[in-house]
Amino acid sequence: MVEVANPALNAFLTRMGEESVYGQVLIQREGDTWRLRHVEDRANETLKPVGIQDLRMIAQFTSQGAFRPLKSAPNLQSGWHAFARNAAELEAALNHLYPGSIADNFAAQQNPPPVTHYREFTNRQTGMYRITQMLNDEQAGRMIQACCHPQFCLKQRFWTVEGLSPDKAAEKSALSCLEPCAVLLEFARKAMRIEQAEVKNLSISIENLETINESLRYALEPSAENIREADFGVPLNPRRIGLVLEKLNQTFGTTKAEEK
Ligand code: SF4
Repeated sequence: MVEVANPALNAFLTRMGEESVYGQVLIQREGDTWRLRHVEDRANETLKPVGIQDLRMIAQFTSQGAFRPLKSAPNLQSGWHAFARNAAELEAALNHLYPGSIADNFAAQQNPPPVTHYREFTNRQTGMYRITQMLNDEQAGRMIQACCHPQFCLKQRFWTVEGLSPDKAAEKSALSCLEPCAVLLEFARKAMRIEQAEVKNLSISIENLETINESLRYALEPSAENIREADFGVPLNPRRIGLVLEKLNQTFGTTKAEEK
């Protein structure tokens, strides 16, 4: 084991051993160096070599060139590999790919971890984000489930709101989330605006409800629409679709029509 002065990095190196998957990055020890690549590139022999500094730009954009506002989103581009020649370079590489994650990971191992829950976090908000305090527990829980779904974020959510459990480690990755992020805060603002909007009542058959439900699930498929991740003004934004699905499922329960 390589001993380094940084206790967070030291703990990380102890846990990872000879090989580890961190978010979507496969890290393999090769003598005194570490090789990093996308986990889906494990068997790819034609990877482009990149420097540690290049990883910052790789983390900024998807393979389609869209900006990644959330670096823990499961859309890291593949096709590259990088070598860290020492522990400091490995730390720099991971901080480019998943900023601040080694320190957060270390903090998450403390007992208890330094978590900031939804109410504590939003009670500090002023200006345009003060409105996020107005979501009740049920609304906030629904919004959080839609926003932090494994389809959108690989971080294990340690923080909660009343009535909602933290993420289970097996559902996410080794990345830790200790407090709501900027994307969630923006989504919470939009969710409250949606709650405040005019309501129209609708009687709907189980069959039609099933069609709506299935259509929303289809629209959630990654290839269905190319919409900027944090553009919550677009009704087809995947997190907004997820929010509607959460509400439908909580309001009506299972929406599968009975077979005739
Ligand atoms: S708040 Fe949710 S979406 Fe944001 S980093 Fe944490 S788990 Fe991911």
